[in-house]
Amino acid sequence: MTVEKPRFIADSMLGSLAKWLRMLGYDTEYARDLDDDSIAKLAAKEGRHILTRDRALASQPGATMVEGDNIDSQLRAVNVRYSLSLDEGAIRCSACNGALVDLPKEEATGVVPKGALENNDTFWKCAACGKAYWKGTHWLGIMDRLRKLNLA
Ligand SMILES: [Zn+2]
Repeated sequence: MTVEKPRFIADSMLGSLAKWLRMLGYDTEYARDLDDDSIAKLAAKEGRHILTRDRALASQPGATMVEGDNIDSQLRAVNVRYSLSLDEGAIRCSACNGALVDLPKEEATGVVPKGALENNDTFWKCAACGKAYWKGTHWLGIMDRLRKLNLA
């Protein structure tokens, strides 16, 4: 039986958590400028699970209260409820939640730093904002941290 992957909406206090969930491959909106009511409406409309630090918003159906102050404890709080795991094929743009698409190496020239181009053959870009990605030291550091949390 396959369980449908949850989609999230994170409130304005949880911008870092939203980025990390995107890097795990979860479609996560970041409600930077929305009030509680708008977040609840958008969550219902798009079938998103609310992640919040706000008690009133946490009382919404399907919402999760995220109390931790650091990213490790926040990820653990979401993991307890949703059993998170890295899906490398579904990683989303950490900046905007856009889908990543292949970026051919010849097109990466001039887009990514020279060192990254010399050391990598595989690149991606965000279909929405164009941000380029590759498995450099930053990426490896992220994966290392996810492994330590038993999420990867
Ligand atoms: Zn993007």
